[in-house]
Amino acid sequence: MNSASTHAYDPARTTPRALDTEAVHAGRDDLARQGLHAAPIDLSTTYPSYDSRGEAARIDTFAVDGAEPEGTPIYGRLGNPTVARFETALARLEGTESAVAFASGMAALSAVLLARASMGLRHVVAVRPLYGCSDHLLTAGLLGSEVTWVDPAGVADALRPDTGLVMVESPANPTLAELDLRALAHSCGSVPLLADNTFATPVLQRPVEQGARLVLHSATKYLGGHGDVMAGVVACDEEFAGRLRQIRFATGGVLHPLAGYLLLRGLATLPVRVRAASATAAELVRRLDADPRVARVHYPRVGGAMIAFEVHGDPHDVIAGVRLITPAVSLGSVDSLIQHPASISHRIVDETDRRGAGVSDRLLRMSVGLEDVDDLWADLDGALGATADTATMGADVDAERPVAGLGAASGR
Ligand SMILES: *Cc1c(COP(=O)(O)O)cnc(C)c1O
Repeated sequence: MNSASTHAYDPARTTPRALDTEAVHAGRDDLARQGLHAAPIDLSTTYPSYDSRGEAARIDTFAVDGAEPEGTPIYGRLGNPTVARFETALARLEGTESAVAFASGMAALSAVLLARASMGLRHVVAVRPLYGCSDHLLTAGLLGSEVTWVDPAGVADALRPDTGLVMVESPANPTLAELDLRALAHSCGSVPLLADNTFATPVLQRPVEQGARLVLHSATKYLGGHGDVMAGVVACDEEFAGRLRQIRFATGGVLHPLAGYLLLRGLATLPVRVRAASATAAELVRRLDADPRVARVHYPRVGGAMIAFEVHGDPHDVIAGVRLITPAVSLGSVDSLIQHPASISHRIVDETDRRGAGVSDRLLRMSVGLEDVDDLWADLDGALGATADTATMGADVDAERPVAGLGAASGR
């Protein structure tokens, strides 16, 4: 690297840049000075050093605060330069000091729980619904945590001296229920609020601006955006990030550098992908809301590319009937996916708890991609047709009906 450059660009000294600019440039600020355009992929698992006294000092420092070691990397489990680019970029987008990437969303959540449990703070207060496996991890207490499920209004009363975390999702998977994060953060007092922001992405919502201390993503979804990377990330302050890096080092849930590269590339188009898919989703919501075969449509005020709806007919017939839309779990890819939460994504949640959280057996969850809206509607229309046995096909269907009531039908 040519450090003699006379007009060295110091990212810390620049004025704040808009989200769309950060999405394309964050984590890449040094590339031009290195004579590079695309980010390099560093696949090294280990790094040479002839100065083992220096290495000892750097490892001691990592053991104290978990800060990313300065200078050349030491070993892949302590940190990787390609992954660090993605972490830097995501932190900028979420407006946090730091971010720590993991092998999956569940590995990221596990690290947060372990970080708190290792301080004797094993109790978690959580609001349903959560992603099915997050619910399962907390309910089963697999990592030694103990969970109290509450309504948002019950958070303050549920806090105990050993409460280490309050966990919520907004919009929630799969009902798209929204929470008042600002009010929740207030109820948490000094206990960190973790908001799973997988559905909204930082394009639509930055939870730290509303008082959340930790922002979790299944980066497998919108951040990667193409259905070909599995990853998780926690955006937070540097103090918590240090603890998470130490946990990651000790438990090994690291992100592969190639995944880090793909995520960095995915972030560049995140704003345009999310906005385009959200516009299509809003139009599909309008058409579903006007359709007599559909009992209820859920769509959050914050917007986004996830929609959920309950059908009068058999939801399994809709899944069997799609041709363009892929019947599959997961979400956030360039192509549209649909699934039946009670059968798949939330199958692992106890039936009573699942229904209590508003996940009806007739609910379908769709991740809207970047296809043409009329092609998607034609596919949905055909798939819904298969459920029309009992539906009111002769009813007064006016596709141009205004969106009145959409807000009321959305959210909780
Ligand atoms: C998928 C998902 C997760 C889990 O992420 P993985 O990358 O599959 O481990 C967590 N939270 C939400 C909201 C999700 O949709």
